[in-house]
Amino acid sequence: MKRIGVLTSGGDAPGMNAAIRAVVRTAIFYNLEVMGIRRGYAGLIEGDFIELNSNSVSDIMQRGGTFLLSARCEEFATKEGRKKAAEQLRKRNIDGLVVIGGDGSLTGAEYLYQEQGIAYIGIPGTIDNDLAGTDITIGFDTAMNTIVDAINKIRDTATSHERNFIIETMGRISGFLTVMAGLAGGADALLIPEQTVSIDEICDKLAKRQKEGRLHSIVLVAEGYGGNFRTNRDINESPAYGIARRIAELTGQETRVIILGHLQRGGSPTVMDRILASKLGAKAVKLLMEGQASKMVGLVGNKLEACSIKDVLKKKKEIDLELYELHRILSI
Ligand code: ADP
Repeated sequence: MKRIGVLTSGGDAPGMNAAIRAVVRTAIFYNLEVMGIRRGYAGLIEGDFIELNSNSVSDIMQRGGTFLLSARCEEFATKEGRKKAAEQLRKRNIDGLVVIGGDGSLTGAEYLYQEQGIAYIGIPGTIDNDLAGTDITIGFDTAMNTIVDAINKIRDTATSHERNFIIETMGRISGFLTVMAGLAGGADALLIPEQTVSIDEICDKLAKRQKEGRLHSIVLVAEGYGGNFRTNRDINESPAYGIARRIAELTGQETRVIILGHLQRGGSPTVMDRILASKLGAKAVKLLMEGQASKMVGLVGNKLEACSIKDVLKKKKEIDLELYELHRILSI
């Protein structure tokens, strides 16, 4: 292995820059050349490559987003598109690829490997933490902190005006962000895709809290609650609005909505995300050098592990229901 490529694809996540930095510097340390591919698979098909050296990744670790840019690319989901992508790599003598992204991006990389024999190692980059094969994904910790910060701020105004807030969090079909941030932020109720809690139950809780003299309640709702999640869905389809209307009707309490949306995808990565990204980036390069392919590197019980992509994509990562239960106990 003499030359590798690195790209970021799909939804961006804070810490992707730290991962790119780790890939580039580890590769250079071991005398490999590195090409950056801009705009994910779209740039790969179009040949949007840049040579990367140690300097190219200076000053990026603290920045959210991805300096290589990211994209969603329909053409790559076709066999012809992937053939073009492989030709671009072969033309530049790139022997292996590091793909940083979510399940969609890793699925695409696997097709490229199966059809075109392009060796790759995946790095889990998504704020949703919805990938098996790793306890935690890059961006998840930063996004949780962003949500908790938002809860703190909303709590101030909620108290002053004695109103409830329904805060909608990201996470697609998974309640990871909602449960962890809800626990850390002291939310009063959680609505997640994995559990069926009726709005009536939530209303009973809010009414009880009001009776006890609490000035407000904060309900966190995952964007995928009630099977609501669809890719590229319109913001109007957010579950939070309907829930807020229903709560206001049933309790008579003033209830406002805030959709945190893409705010959760930005910001300077936390220490946890920077360290995770640095470890995974370095490990991905070492695995490529060992001749491994079609794997995702992850952190399992504080150890770096390489998991076969087939296993990663086959399994659904379940949220920790004990944490959900703990939240229920602590939010009485
Ligand atoms: P994420 O990686 O964050 O899950 P997406 O699901 O949007 O993001 O996937 C990113 C890109 O990966 C897509 O735009 C497409 O180019 C590629 N991709 C996703 N799913 C597939 C698939 N089933 N086959 C081939 N390529 C795919």
